[in-house]
Amino acid sequence: MGVGVWPTMSTVTALDLELLASAALAGELIADSDAEQILLDPEIDLLPLVHAAYRVRHARWDKTVQVHILNNAANGKCPEDCSYCTQGKNSSVPIEEYSMKSPDEIMEEARLAYENGAFRYCMVFSGRGPSTNRTDELASLVRNIKAKYPLEVCVSAGLLDDAKAEVLAEAGLDRLNHNLNTSEEHYAEICTTHTYQDRLNTLKAAKRNGIEMCSGLIAGMGEPASDLVEIAQTLRSLEAESIPVNFLLPFEGNDLVEPKGLTPEYCLRVLCMFRFANPTAEIRVAAGREFHLRSLEPLALYPANSLFLEGYLNAKGAASNRTYEMIIDAGFEIVSDFSAEALVDSAEKSAVEHPVEIGGKSAVKTLEDLRPSL
Ligand code: SF4
Repeated sequence: MGVGVWPTMSTVTALDLELLASAALAGELIADSDAEQILLDPEIDLLPLVHAAYRVRHARWDKTVQVHILNNAANGKCPEDCSYCTQGKNSSVPIEEYSMKSPDEIMEEARLAYENGAFRYCMVFSGRGPSTNRTDELASLVRNIKAKYPLEVCVSAGLLDDAKAEVLAEAGLDRLNHNLNTSEEHYAEICTTHTYQDRLNTLKAAKRNGIEMCSGLIAGMGEPASDLVEIAQTLRSLEAESIPVNFLLPFEGNDLVEPKGLTPEYCLRVLCMFRFANPTAEIRVAAGREFHLRSLEPLALYPANSLFLEGYLNAKGAASNRTYEMIIDAGFEIVSDFSAEALVDSAEKSAVEHPVEIGGKSAVKTLEDLRPSL
């Protein structure tokens, strides 16, 4: 597997996956050792593992898949130094930098997201955190989108305190995205301009003000498997409603380029482990879905009940019609006001009419661009 250190298999007790699923369904916490075993024990075959994780997923989410579309509403120019990010001050990835898009542009993209089947519209703003004025602008956008479209709205805007969280909550913000990304111990390895505690404080401020929490991780940044377990357990204790599971994408020009240990099998194990640790959370297979899961991608729908469509900030994802077909072919149901056929049709048209606007105006890398760098 290439990640972490695991004792010799003769010392490890075989894991009863069905028992584990039943315990998760009963609301029991998974033991750290069991969670780590899921990640690292080659004696645990993939299909029984996926089946057991699916039992847990199915109890809460049935066969539904929630589709999220990201709008990179402000790109680059960030004073922070997150080593995995194309928008940070140390990154030399040639992205298209821009300050906040105009409200009209953001509203138009909300319309496109709705018509393309998005359940939730996620606006992402680069930067350390919003000023008071920017917070007011965000609140006004949230109000306008919610008034016009039956979309859930999520904002990712950096560090927040209680006062700013309250403004956004009053505007009707459903969710705040703020990823923990990695464990507390590993955090200083990936960022020096803010701390794990800063991120935790933001999540708690959102929670105190009644905003749902979306917080996840990036696997493949050199962390041992035990760190992924720690993140999963921390998110359980925070009662995170939504957990995006990202897999590091290799951008030449970032401080952190090379993903470590991310085989398709390991990625699937990570998703399953998060499902057992967070049985009722929305688990989203996020950045790197196509790139790292490769031919195992449809299996991700068994532990995860949600995905991002088309792209991840500065990387384009698979075309949305291809993603919709994958969901339908596997027998899952897209949560949308539109029929599956209408969504595929619309996605095919959209690929022609709006080749880059949805999910990444500034997309600079396709999967094919990224792959040779591995
Ligand atoms: S992750 Fe956010 S805070 Fe960090 S460099 Fe990127 S945009 Fe800035």
